[in-house]
Amino acid sequence: MREYLLYIDNEFVAASGERTFASVNPFTREQLAQCAFAGEADVDRAVAAARKAFDSGPWPRLSRSERAAALKALSDKINETANLLVELEVADSGSTIRKAKEDVALSARSLNNASKFAALELDEPLDSVSRPGVSKNLLVREPVGVVAAIIPWNFPLKMAVWKLGPALAAGNTVVLKPSEETPVTAMELSQLIHGAGFPPGAVNIITGTGPVAGAAMVRHPLVDKVAFTGSTAVGKEIMRSAAGTLKKITLECGGKSANIVLEDADLSIAVDGALYAAFYHQGQCCEAGTRLLLPESIADEFLGLLLEKTRRLRLGDPMDPATDLGPLVSKRQQDVVLGFIAKGKAEGASLVTGGGMPASPVCARGFFVEPTIFDRVAGSSRIAQEEIFGPVLSVIRYATVDDAVRIANDSRYGLGGGVWSRDADKAMAVARRLRAGTVWINEWHLLSDRAPFGGYKQSGIGREFGLDGLREYTEAKHVHIDEARTRDKKPWYDVVVPRT
Ligand code: NAD
Repeated sequence: MREYLLYIDNEFVAASGERTFASVNPFTREQLAQCAFAGEADVDRAVAAARKAFDSGPWPRLSRSERAAALKALSDKINETANLLVELEVADSGSTIRKAKEDVALSARSLNNASKFAALELDEPLDSVSRPGVSKNLLVREPVGVVAAIIPWNFPLKMAVWKLGPALAAGNTVVLKPSEETPVTAMELSQLIHGAGFPPGAVNIITGTGPVAGAAMVRHPLVDKVAFTGSTAVGKEIMRSAAGTLKKITLECGGKSANIVLEDADLSIAVDGALYAAFYHQGQCCEAGTRLLLPESIADEFLGLLLEKTRRLRLGDPMDPATDLGPLVSKRQQDVVLGFIAKGKAEGASLVTGGGMPASPVCARGFFVEPTIFDRVAGSSRIAQEEIFGPVLSVIRYATVDDAVRIANDSRYGLGGGVWSRDADKAMAVARRLRAGTVWINEWHLLSDRAPFGGYKQSGIGREFGLDGLREYTEAKHVHIDEARTRDKKPWYDVVVPRT
């Protein structure tokens, strides 16, 4: 069994009181790791280290190229350790090995990209002002300070890197807390960070629960910004708590993304696309396409093809490359998802496939739920409105495109959306009408390090990725430099100082 300590100020230390908690493999239910359980005193220690590193340590004062080199070294170390990271990501989160391989490779790529961002000059000259007095004006972008980064369990390593990369590239120092469900690869990352040449306190990684460690990070007076990814309910709690010290916040929260198939869609691609949108990583994706909007005219044909493919999906050992769907992350999540399936049935939606736990003996110990599709779902029902975060797809039939757009936007979320059509202009017209932070046309799930990602409405505040994402980790300072250099040209003499 693996054991992990807290990583604070470049040291591996036990939690106060030596408290620990277990992380369990969701396929075998065996304990994978024992992790330090950070309490309030440990959060204090980590924040103090990050504060000192920001206020007087070298990290924010390094040259851009030095910061870029440290991030590149970390990216290289991820590539060198990829096999171990993949194996642990599968064992800790239930991710299939196919997904975990992609996630580890993308984590390295994302840090490589962060190193390029670290090298960018973000300061910009602003228009000079010539009246009433001549001046030069600069926009100077500075790091916000100490960032508390809190992440969920669905993409454990990738989420850690998505927070650390831009925060560090901009010169901040960080205290990162992975989810208590999946702490393992973030703690492996701490060992790579330790060997990559980061100065003490620049990166601190602590394990613990949301209500204890997470909440203490958010209310801590020495934290300048909270960067959170997780559920909308916890996002709201964080917003309330961060208000106590008026911290900067970015919130990447839940979703209930609408996947609109237009009548002229190429079904040979759109059916696979709908399957991928809904069931990739067992549906445990914030931007999953969980509402499938089908035109009445082709709904039966589309659904027939989708059902055939869904029934061919293989559930099983996530380490087996032939497995399409692994277990859900925890018993709790399995219960939540099964509870939503029961609600769907009670609300009168038509269950057309799945709906329970798989019978196969290989799945007997894991927290599995079959890929499940409900047809003729009412737009107002709970399975159409609430984020389920499991392999449950709600099919809603529509009559006209206006209808589809109205149904798609009838959600408190606004994270993702998709349109399938052979006509690029028609699809683009629909994409423009969707109130969502990312819209895919004939595609799904693809995010780019260069394109902003985030939510409209209750899916979040702020953006990750791209220059927009990087700027979320900066303060904008305007520096006004007087160039008149003479009393005569200063307008304020007329207002408060009598001219002599
Ligand atoms: P969660 O909100 O339960 O937990 C997320 C993190 O917040 C965990 O580290 C947890 O320990 C911590 N936390 C919990 N309570 C806290 C509190 N009171 N104060 C501070 N921290 C606290 O979410 P989850 O179940 O881990 O993940 C699933 C959710 O994440 C889904 O809603 C999903 O949509 C969302 N998500 C969003 C994005 C995005 O980019 N928008 C990406 C992935 C996941």
